[in-house]
Amino acid sequence: MQPNNNNKPNRPPRNNQGPKKPGGQRGGGRGQKPQGQAITTSLTTSRGQAVRAQRRSQADAQRIANQYVAAADSGDKPARANVIDDSPRLKIIGLGGMDGGGSKNMILVEYMNDAVILDCGNDLGVDLPGINYGIADTAYLEQIQPKLRAYIITHGHLDHIGGLPHIVPKFPAPIYGSKFTIGRVEEIFENFGLPMPDGFELKTVTMNENTHERLKIGEFFVELVRVTHSIPGSTVIALDTPVGRIINTGDFRFDPNPLDHERSDIERLTELGNEGVLALLSESTTTERPGRTPSESTIEQSFKDIMDNAPGRIFVGLFSTNMNRVQMIINAAVHHNKKVAMDGRSMVSTLEMAVRHGFVRIPKGTFVPIASASTMKDTDLVVVCTGSQGEPSSALQRMSNGEHRHVKLKEQDTVILSSTPIPYSGNDSKIRTMVDELLKKGVHVFRHETREVDGIGPLHVSGHASRDEYADMINLIKPKFFIPIYGDFTAKRYHVDIAVEQGIPRANTLNVGNGQVISLTPDKMELAGEVPFGTILVDQTGALVSNVVVKDRVLLSEEGLVAVVLTIDKKAGSLLTSPDIISRGFIYMRDNEEIMNGLRIELKRAVQQRFKRVDLDRFKVELKEHITHYLFEHTQRSPIVIPVVNIVSGGGGGSAKQAPNPNANANPANPGQTQPQPKEKTPEELAAEQQKRFQEMRARLLTQDPRVD
Ligand SMILES: [Zn+2]
Repeated sequence: MQPNNNNKPNRPPRNNQGPKKPGGQRGGGRGQKPQGQAITTSLTTSRGQAVRAQRRSQADAQRIANQYVAAADSGDKPARANVIDDSPRLKIIGLGGMDGGGSKNMILVEYMNDAVILDCGNDLGVDLPGINYGIADTAYLEQIQPKLRAYIITHGHLDHIGGLPHIVPKFPAPIYGSKFTIGRVEEIFENFGLPMPDGFELKTVTMNENTHERLKIGEFFVELVRVTHSIPGSTVIALDTPVGRIINTGDFRFDPNPLDHERSDIERLTELGNEGVLALLSESTTTERPGRTPSESTIEQSFKDIMDNAPGRIFVGLFSTNMNRVQMIINAAVHHNKKVAMDGRSMVSTLEMAVRHGFVRIPKGTFVPIASASTMKDTDLVVVCTGSQGEPSSALQRMSNGEHRHVKLKEQDTVILSSTPIPYSGNDSKIRTMVDELLKKGVHVFRHETREVDGIGPLHVSGHASRDEYADMINLIKPKFFIPIYGDFTAKRYHVDIAVEQGIPRANTLNVGNGQVISLTPDKMELAGEVPFGTILVDQTGALVSNVVVKDRVLLSEEGLVAVVLTIDKKAGSLLTSPDIISRGFIYMRDNEEIMNGLRIELKRAVQQRFKRVDLDRFKVELKEHITHYLFEHTQRSPIVIPVVNIVSGGGGGSAKQAPNPNANANPANPGQTQPQPKEKTPEELAAEQQKRFQEMRARLLTQDPRVD
């Protein structure tokens, strides 16, 4: 769902106002007309052309950044919703999860003086420089905070729990979930980078999904019902409200033969349906896939076959939270008298939790540290690891590059990729490159995609339902009203069609976006306005990042940066040294000396003509416009331009005030040779480095989370 190419934002901007705001986008521009004559020019493109080109670049950057805009920034949204609500109706609001690929899933349910939040995830698909993930904007929660009684979580994938460490400390309430889900919640709070606010205490309530335990929360009763997915402890939430019963399916499939033998609790779902359900909120990830998703158990034999025949070590890459599959591989390894090692921080973290709570059982003597991989007999070892998506710096990726500390791959090794690329993630090409490297090393590679060619497979099955299973859910629950959730408009639209095919009147369905309020009474479902919603962007430290910063980063990454440092004698009004020009990510200056020399001449003239005639601020604005114009004329590009003007009184050579930029000191002894030799990193280099780090971090997080599969 996210663009892989920043030039192609795939969603229309929700906020077109940014670029149009007078003065708001012009950086140093004060929005005034130049006083008197501007800098004279020999340039042939019109100043207007250059300015328009720059505006276009800025508008493009704004549009890319605006795909994820916070509620506070979306000027056309109502600032305040109706806080005091004493009408006896239920309100259901998707604060997240109603668009995109079903990410940052978060649904608010409100009745009179009580409110609960169903799921609270993050969005790892945000493709902006330096951004790790997005979370739902909680502006609306501020208005209803006193009503908030609980967070109820369907399962432990990050797109359902990843928002909690940000949001719960601000809006405290206990978190309810199954044993495994609560284990995952505690795990992500423990691994969270930032300290929790003073006095904050994580409160969790573990519910038993197997005994139909019911708990009272305010005016609501809640029950969790076991369902199959690609992580243990997945549940449906049944929420009984004074208006009627609503059901949120969470992510699910109906696997008739799951590896942990914990089948979906069809009996209980049937009972709940027979007792009457007002509204079904059903997950919509793969509503375009016909038929039924094959059982997870269909891959068991494939692994046995590979272990029977592999000539050396076996490496299996898979999603780090898929503990049932990890257990299956452990069982197969034990059966073949092999030892198991594990690599990948997120996977090890989840495994530790799963073993502690008894979800994964490892027979004594089976587990060996990855460090001993090189000393073991090849045929004795199976390594389970992260990296099935080709993520940079993941275990498998490092092995394929020969950069792994403990593992050097060799011929006779076998690598199994037990996943498929996350759709729309751009991971296909990363996986391809990794497979290239593996095959160059002579390693045997087995992929799910090539199962028919290899004669071994399946090696992966989806954790989500296919159309017949979505229909089954509707038929079990038999709801009066149907609301597709956790998917984009199209996926939800296909889901509505399934519901209509199963006999739900189309008038009893609603396909809503984030922020839209659904009002429910026992016999009516309708739209009732909208509340503020949006995306808050989070960087790798866990800190929130403003939309403005993101816009600049996009502009930097697209157009680069040119800083011009002038040292001017105050009295004489002339340059003391040749201007320093520092360019990053724009053009390589050594190859374009003519352009740079021309710019120096333009700068000298600009100082002579304008420095003494206008005030300093005005001068900088004109300078910036003129540089922009000149660079556009010669390169048809509009980098970020930063003029730095040092004014030196007294006319002494080389005594320039400390410039803000460490590279700004010109060499007065040799004024013609001012090609800067940066010693410290420029902002642009730092940004590029940061971006790389964030991408790696995001990739690591993505492995934890089979967001789609
Ligand atoms: Zn999930």
